[in-house]
Amino acid sequence: MTTVYLKPHKEESLKRMHPWVFSGAIARVALDKNYPFNEPQEGELVCVQSAAGEILGVGHWQVGSIAVRILAFGVESLPVDFWEERIRAAYRVRESIGLIRQDNTTFRLIHGEGDFLPGLIVDVYAETAVIQAHSIGMHLCREAIAAAVMENVPQVKNVYYKSDDTLPFKARIEGEKTGWLTTSLPSPQERENAEYWSEENGLLFRIDWLRGQKTGFFIDQRENRALVERYAAGKDVLNMFCYTGGFSLYALRGGAKNVDSVDVSQKAIDLVNVNVARNFPQADNHKAVAADAFDYLASMREAGHTYDLIILDPPAFAKHRDAVKNALRGYQRINAKAIEMIRPGGILFTFSCSQAVDKEAFRLAVFSAAAQVGRKVRILHQLHQPQDHPINIYHPEGEYLKGLVLFVE
Ligand code: SAH
Repeated sequence: MTTVYLKPHKEESLKRMHPWVFSGAIARVALDKNYPFNEPQEGELVCVQSAAGEILGVGHWQVGSIAVRILAFGVESLPVDFWEERIRAAYRVRESIGLIRQDNTTFRLIHGEGDFLPGLIVDVYAETAVIQAHSIGMHLCREAIAAAVMENVPQVKNVYYKSDDTLPFKARIEGEKTGWLTTSLPSPQERENAEYWSEENGLLFRIDWLRGQKTGFFIDQRENRALVERYAAGKDVLNMFCYTGGFSLYALRGGAKNVDSVDVSQKAIDLVNVNVARNFPQADNHKAVAADAFDYLASMREAGHTYDLIILDPPAFAKHRDAVKNALRGYQRINAKAIEMIRPGGILFTFSCSQAVDKEAFRLAVFSAAAQVGRKVRILHQLHQPQDHPINIYHPEGEYLKGLVLFVE
């Protein structure tokens, strides 16, 4: 196996079990005598050693600022049952905290570094697991991962692979980046036309990983949606950036007087309508609108329309560190518009899923929005990502979702 030697003193973070080796920390790379190439290949397993020759761990090699993602610390190679063991352990955690139930068949099984598998996401929707690789190493291991998921997650009968948007786009990648790895559905036609449904806290959602965003659904808002249900009774609700209507269904079940769901994607809006019809066939108090958030808020304002409860769950405004300043301006702007439209005594649920914007910065942006509008605003809850999106304590970069629930006078 190829050995990566670190510069002196660069082993500290690895010894504290942080799983990334940055390219700047590497002194040299030693290839085996008979190695057929003159540099390590992307995705291959390498052994990382300190300058003094101490074995630190083994991980996936990749070209880029993170050169190695460590899979196992303190060993030279992976045990034969590596995938089984990691996937079983992750499943056991979800099971032991009561996430896997008859009325909750939707959960994240593997959350990258949070489940000690950097570069890998696995979401489970009833009988189907959707695997997403963020590194070439995980891409190359997709068959082994799928087999381990099939073996260790009793409800899973199909595995879909969806990595077209998440693999480094410059890399030379062999094999399909998207498609079924295992499926019980015999023909491609059936697979294309099948409707897949999954349950979250007793609500049914149609999940479309073929055409939808991410792996098909935003599982990370489950607990926060449940909180909306608690506050929704009798309220006029606006679910802005609704995607397939997660928050809307909880608000309807919580007894909202009226729910408006808004998203710029017509495909998402079509699914909101399908989901509302399936769960609340009698509902006549829900409306779904395909519109840009700023346009919608401006037109409502012009019409003098206000709401009792608004949910703002925009896409990541900052995908990189250098976009943070603009993102903060964006958060301030959209939050100011929403606060303006809240009736006295109303509530705003506001979120940011940009990893690059930390919770203090986000809170400051919302503070600036409140000050700009000049309303009296108090924080009722500070929200975050749920228990199936765990943060490895040695990898604080894994924290990304934050939210505030505001009481607006
Ligand atoms: N709250 C959702 C997840 C939201 S993801 C849930 O619980 O499932 C962010 C959504 O914002 C996406 O569906 C995307 O289509 C939508 N979006 C992106 N830009 C937008 C814009 N300018 N106006 C309205 N919606 C937008």
